[in-house]
Amino acid sequence: MARDPRYDILFEPVRIGPVTARNRFYQVPHCNGMGRKHPTAMAAMRGVKAEGGWAVVCTEQCDIHVTSDTEREIRLWDDRDIPPLARMVDRVHGRGALAGLEPTHMGYHAGNFIGREIPMAPSGRPAHGILPFHARAMDKTDIADYRRWHRNAVIRGKKAGFDIIYVYAGHGLSLPMHFLSPRHNRRADEYGGRVENRVRLLREVIEDTKEAVGDACGVAVRLAVNELLGPRGITPDEEGRAAIEMLGELPDLWDVNVSEWENDSESSRFAEEGYQEEHIAFVKSRTTKPVVGVGRYTSPDRMVSLVRNGVLDMIGAARPSIADPFLPRKIEEGRIDDIRECIGCNVCVGTANQNTYMRCTQNPTMSEEWRRGWHPETIPPADTDDRILVVGAGPAGLEAARALGQRGYDVTLAEAGAELGGRVARESRLPGLAAWGRVRDWRVGQLRKLPNVEIFMASEMTADTVRETGAGMVALATGAVWRRDGSGRYHDFPLPGAAAQARRVLTPDDIMAGAEPEGPVAVYDDDHYYMGGAIAEKLARDGHAVSLVTPARAVSSWTEFTLEIDRIQTRMRELGVTLHLSHAVTRIDEREVEIEDMYSRRAARIEAGAVVMVTAQDPVDGLYRDLMADEDANRKAGIRRVSRIGDCYGPGPIAAAVFGGYRYARELGEAIGDGCPWKRETVELAAEV
Ligand code: ADP
Ligand code: SF4
Repeated sequence: MARDPRYDILFEPVRIGPVTARNRFYQVPHCNGMGRKHPTAMAAMRGVKAEGGWAVVCTEQCDIHVTSDTEREIRLWDDRDIPPLARMVDRVHGRGALAGLEPTHMGYHAGNFIGREIPMAPSGRPAHGILPFHARAMDKTDIADYRRWHRNAVIRGKKAGFDIIYVYAGHGLSLPMHFLSPRHNRRADEYGGRVENRVRLLREVIEDTKEAVGDACGVAVRLAVNELLGPRGITPDEEGRAAIEMLGELPDLWDVNVSEWENDSESSRFAEEGYQEEHIAFVKSRTTKPVVGVGRYTSPDRMVSLVRNGVLDMIGAARPSIADPFLPRKIEEGRIDDIRECIGCNVCVGTANQNTYMRCTQNPTMSEEWRRGWHPETIPPADTDDRILVVGAGPAGLEAARALGQRGYDVTLAEAGAELGGRVARESRLPGLAAWGRVRDWRVGQLRKLPNVEIFMASEMTADTVRETGAGMVALATGAVWRRDGSGRYHDFPLPGAAAQARRVLTPDDIMAGAEPEGPVAVYDDDHYYMGGAIAEKLARDGHAVSLVTPARAVSSWTEFTLEIDRIQTRMRELGVTLHLSHAVTRIDEREVEIEDMYSRRAARIEAGAVVMVTAQDPVDGLYRDLMADEDANRKAGIRRVSRIGDCYGPGPIAAAVFGGYRYARELGEAIGDGCPWKRETVELAAEV
């Protein structure tokens, strides 16, 4: 297909100082959990983005010195760190894109657990978050040292072959930003006080960087123009505007956003596409240099309007490039409905924050490009002539059927219900989660293009009907249900009263199916991801008096990793949900539940006409057990293998179900062998002992 001429503007080249980007698609720096520990996997992932049409592909933050150490990110501490990054540059160059590097000194944000150095800051202060250190105030020697370290890293970056090198002043994560923000800088010298002084270090580092790269690389500045903290922090009216006005023509590109990371990477539960526009829109009028911004943009029309309306010159993306590394190519080839849109769930962020290979709900091949040899667009053709039956059209079944169909297999997808999508269809109707429906929509759209996949609705399969299909391979993607008896992480056994009061005990499945609890509702959340908070939110919005009881110290505590935790706490309070943190439900009685404080074991009672148990899920695997009960009958029916995938195999996040579906399509349920099934980079032993 040909490109729609309306989108031509997105494919105009953009000059970034001495280098030229082939189009306006710009993958901004983003963490990925692979970084320095898995450099070849990281390089391959970046290379696939370049192949997918991004004109610029950047690294994550790159620690420049031992006084700013993080375990997971890449580094350029000395020349030994150049080869892993050069490998990434080669992959990116090999596919026609420019490679960008983001040298970083995290200042007070760095725990420095590796090198045990005392963190540094413009003024003395406690280190970030709850790190049990203090950062020391930098003197003039420290400032000179920092500038030299940055310059050294820049020179190494140039040697590695990067085309664009950043000065990083974003996300509350770097020294030039700490100097700019009033909340960190209480200095009385020429680096503190008036905004002209607070911007000095940023100016100096941009000048150092320009001088170090000469005309080999473009120099980009990533600047947080708003910390969303009012006058305590950087505001667009004061520091943001002043920095752009004073330094507007100095770098070759401005990459602007809001800080901190949880504001920059807001999830779709809390922010719509384009949520940063109001904060960054002023920048372009203050500089002639190209401006990049982000906002989870996946709509090409929106991208065009950003360029035409003079908001941005280049469309920045982290998450949309993770969910669909081929987004630019699809626009270029006129394949708009093939774009796999990011759902804004922040599972990528959450898994990178666990310091390991990032995963993506929409893109099961993310981080698997090198170690498993998976590619987001291509898949090996079928190598057997099996006919394959997939039972259940939730995210696992849809993805398995889609990817098997892409391989060329004849696939039958049977779904018991009247709609496609399984849990995704249900969960996307919870408040704020509508964008999650994209998991279903993209797969259904792709399936409609595959004549070799037949979909049967309202087809509840039994062992007999499965055997009648004549399929040689069977994948059961029959999902999971929430447990009703209150057992889970805190309680190993069913809760007293759960059976006796069964009429008043509900699960998220009941609420999503439209059950209307009577009277005040207690939500018991021993799951700790989004579901407990989302159910409480729905019930409160529906007008119920809601209490949320959880053994955790915060509602939806795993969302600390997806950067949503604070917003969820705020929302609970705004909706008037009564919180019983560090408490467990211990008994269910008529009109009341008993709860206990986890630490003191003191009991209390709260009024509740109904209890919603959000504790654990059980696989729906009755069909599997029925089939396996008569393997002879399976053989006679021509079935070679029966596999469980997705939540039916192991309940978990949607990302795991999609991954399970894709993996099945690649491996057809092959048993895991004795060795490690993927490639890995092992530690290189030192020559000296
Ligand atoms: P997953 O997340 O693993 O994809 P879901 O719970 O989202 O699981 O989806 C499971 C789907 O399987 C649901 O749409 C459900 O209606 C369907 N299903 C369950 N049992 C059967 C069955 N016996 N026959 C056909 N479809 C089934
Ligand atoms: Fe988007 Fe979720 Fe994938 Fe992250 S994990 S890129 S937020 S779909």
